[in-house]
Amino acid sequence: MAAKTLSDHGINDFLILEATDKIGGRMVSTDFSGYTVEIGANWVEGVGGKHVNPIWELAKRYNLRMSKSNFDNISSNVYNEEGRLLPLSETKPHFDIADACQSYLDVLSNSLNAHDEEDISLTTGQRLFGLIPTSPLDMAIDYSYYDFEIAEPPRVTSLKNVLPNPTFVEYGDDEYFVCDKRGYSYIPKQLAKDFLKHENEIIIDPRLQLQKVVRHIEYSANGVRIETEDNSTFYSKYAILSVSLGVLKSRLITYQPDLPYWKIKTFYQFDMSIYTKIFLKFPYTFWLTGPGTEFFLYTDDSRGYYTYWQHLENEYPGSNIIFVTVTDDESRRIEQQSDEETKGEIMQVLRKLFGKDIPEPENILVPRWWKNRLHGGSYTNWPIGVSEADFDRMKAPVGPLYFTGEHTSSNFNGYVHGAYLAGIATAETLVDCIKYKKCKEITSNDLPWMNPNTTQVTNKTEQTCNGVCCKAIQQERESLRSFYIDTIDSLQHALTNKCKPS
Ligand SMILES: Cc1cc2nc3c(=O)[nH]c(=O)nc-3n(C[C@H](O)[C@H](O)[C@H](O)COP(=O)(O)OP(=O)(O)OC[C@H]3O[C@@H](n4cnc5c(N)ncnc54)[C@H](O)[C@@H]3O)c2cc1C
Repeated sequence: MAAKTLSDHGINDFLILEATDKIGGRMVSTDFSGYTVEIGANWVEGVGGKHVNPIWELAKRYNLRMSKSNFDNISSNVYNEEGRLLPLSETKPHFDIADACQSYLDVLSNSLNAHDEEDISLTTGQRLFGLIPTSPLDMAIDYSYYDFEIAEPPRVTSLKNVLPNPTFVEYGDDEYFVCDKRGYSYIPKQLAKDFLKHENEIIIDPRLQLQKVVRHIEYSANGVRIETEDNSTFYSKYAILSVSLGVLKSRLITYQPDLPYWKIKTFYQFDMSIYTKIFLKFPYTFWLTGPGTEFFLYTDDSRGYYTYWQHLENEYPGSNIIFVTVTDDESRRIEQQSDEETKGEIMQVLRKLFGKDIPEPENILVPRWWKNRLHGGSYTNWPIGVSEADFDRMKAPVGPLYFTGEHTSSNFNGYVHGAYLAGIATAETLVDCIKYKKCKEITSNDLPWMNPNTTQVTNKTEQTCNGVCCKAIQQERESLRSFYIDTIDSLQHALTNKCKPS
């Protein structure tokens, strides 16, 4: 969308450098035993509200096959630790309390924001309400309300910035599950065809360069020099960096000069969560199918242990495919073990729920988002402790380097529509700079002592540094600056040594 927006504004001398052999990024599908499954983004989230989600519009325009997800019935589909399907009379009171608590958290968040009060975590909010989910049932319900959406536990998540979820407030509560042979990535592929040369479905425009893994960026007021893994070099006046926050946090790309402290700090403070859908194909279905059965929960003593299940019989009747979603530490744990081990754990759970005689799966698919160096996780979550001013630094340009991607969308981070809107917004900022010379400067909220080269540093220091305190402030500033630089240097040194091939 960033490139398309530049093109829409008549700026066409750009290159798109993409590491993989296709576009779409985290919108990615694969063939799984003859069926197209989405390993990454799956739902158009936020439909039926006061505004129209732009992704919904595109999905309709391209006639994407989708099915509306009905999560309401999940309270009828809860299995306890022994595998017993719990009657609604047993589960409903727990869901009702979770509902009430969520409404309370929405109101509390609005109130904290309105009064400019300090942020708290979702867990703190839950405690204020009087809910402490500790039983396997309450933990599973809690997991389904929060982790299943934001992929991190409530205790790390910012109440003020995450609830009420702007996606559902703005665009509505409905969610549509994409189940199209062409994949969810049909949308970005079609958008690319709007402005890149193509023959039928294939983009042949030389401005799209695939399999170019960016590894080094040099930048100055005069422009940008980019090196890719295949030793190609590219020069440009400006660059828009649209890699994920996981990549920004990693050292996959090095910078000369290094990015300023305030920028790196913001990357490290924000969270890249992990959300993993593990697909299994069986010779036949042994789980409940039919209306209202699509989603079910398994409650376990260990929070988030293979809790959230979904079958694909509504979307692909006769496919005999089921998938379970895990997140965060469970995803990390599972990514580090073999698929056989994961299959063994999953089968233990399924045998509890559906009996010892169920068949072995014919196929299993375990995506590894965290280990993938081009993603470093699934999508961002706003953690407690990051203010909006901090967040503004996420998208702030550094000289000729501009930043975009879902992680730069303050309202819709973590979503496809967030990435889409961020691409437009960042490109428009760059267009303002290129065409109208309205170039965005680094804000005065930056940590000035870490960034001695910006003019604002001098101004700010001059304003605050006077009389007898001046020397002390300067000394403090210098010692803090060298402390951080030394720490970063020694850490980098230690890591480089550690990473040297033995
Ligand atoms: C498992 C999962 C489930 C999700 N579910 C949903 C959902 O149901 N609904 C929803 O709205 N959102 C969902 N999301 C989030 C959504 O997919 C993302 O927010 C969105 O696709 C991010 O788009 P982006 O352009 O910011 O980043 P990306 O799509 O990650 O694009 C970044 C691109 O940069 C490339 N790249 C990385 N490093 C380099 C490098 N060094 N050099 C060159 N290129 C590089 C990558 O290959 C990638 O193509 C999900 C994500 C995941 C992973």
